[in-house]
Amino acid sequence: MKVKYWGTRGSIATPSFEGFDTVKYGGNTSCVEVMSEKGDLYIFDAGSGLRLLGQELFGRGFAPGQEGKAKIIIGHEHHDHIEGFPFFGPAYIPSNKFEIISGALDLPLSEVMSDRQSIPKFPIQLEQMAADISFRQLREGEKLENGMALSHCYSKHPQKCFAYRIEEETESGIVSLCYVLDNEHDGEVDGKKFGAFDKKIIKFIENSDLVVIDSAYTPEEYNPAKYNLKGMSKVGWGHAHYKVNIDRALEAGVKKLVLAHHDPTHDDKFLENMLRDARNYLIDQNGDLGLQLELAKEGKTEYLN
Ligand SMILES: [Zn+2]
Ligand SMILES: [Zn+2]
Repeated sequence: MKVKYWGTRGSIATPSFEGFDTVKYGGNTSCVEVMSEKGDLYIFDAGSGLRLLGQELFGRGFAPGQEGKAKIIIGHEHHDHIEGFPFFGPAYIPSNKFEIISGALDLPLSEVMSDRQSIPKFPIQLEQMAADISFRQLREGEKLENGMALSHCYSKHPQKCFAYRIEEETESGIVSLCYVLDNEHDGEVDGKKFGAFDKKIIKFIENSDLVVIDSAYTPEEYNPAKYNLKGMSKVGWGHAHYKVNIDRALEAGVKKLVLAHHDPTHDDKFLENMLRDARNYLIDQNGDLGLQLELAKEGKTEYLN
């Protein structure tokens, strides 16, 4: 299974400016490409990173007349997870086919995405995009084609939102990726006192090879009062911090944890400092780096096998 990060930023696209660099870890909103060993293409979320993926897909079988096919799996309807679709070039090519799928969200996804492109919000309506575009609600524990399986569960976020787990049968066994955006935890978690919701997520990500997870804040930003700091509490905003994510990943026996949905106030330098602190926390928890821990990095490709 190939995994490529096209959008790693949360909330709003965040280009660099003088003194604030986002080139290394990325400024585009959520979009992760997954390609199976058999060449089936899955795209998790359609944030602004989808535009660049679309440009590349023209050279990978999605040019006019080539009959490109992909499934686009959407976690929820907040704009940073769907805003790239009107700029997704291959969706304007009649020979291409896209199935857009999700769990049962607050409103039908087709309605929300169509509304975003309605006049006068956008000049080209969803229905005018020339590709064969269909919407479908995911069934529980659904099997996809060619040995792929997709399951989903609610994550903790304002309005409905889904975490996904995609698995592939390979010659060396099953490989699995969990995509857990956007997601908070059960209030203030300290040590390994997991809440009921955390336990559900731990079960869902159990033993997976790679977990891409919402880790927007530092613990201090999440709940400043706990650290005797001033600042606005982010409790209840639907995003988590690295300590609780590490706790959950260790408990679940995850092999690799990738911190994603970078906050727009965090530049590359801030993120690297946060990763250093997160790795130190991990060492404090289990004495070594048995769990691989990284930041989601736009443009990076990795392989699970
Ligand atoms: Zn988001
Ligand atoms: Zn959201």
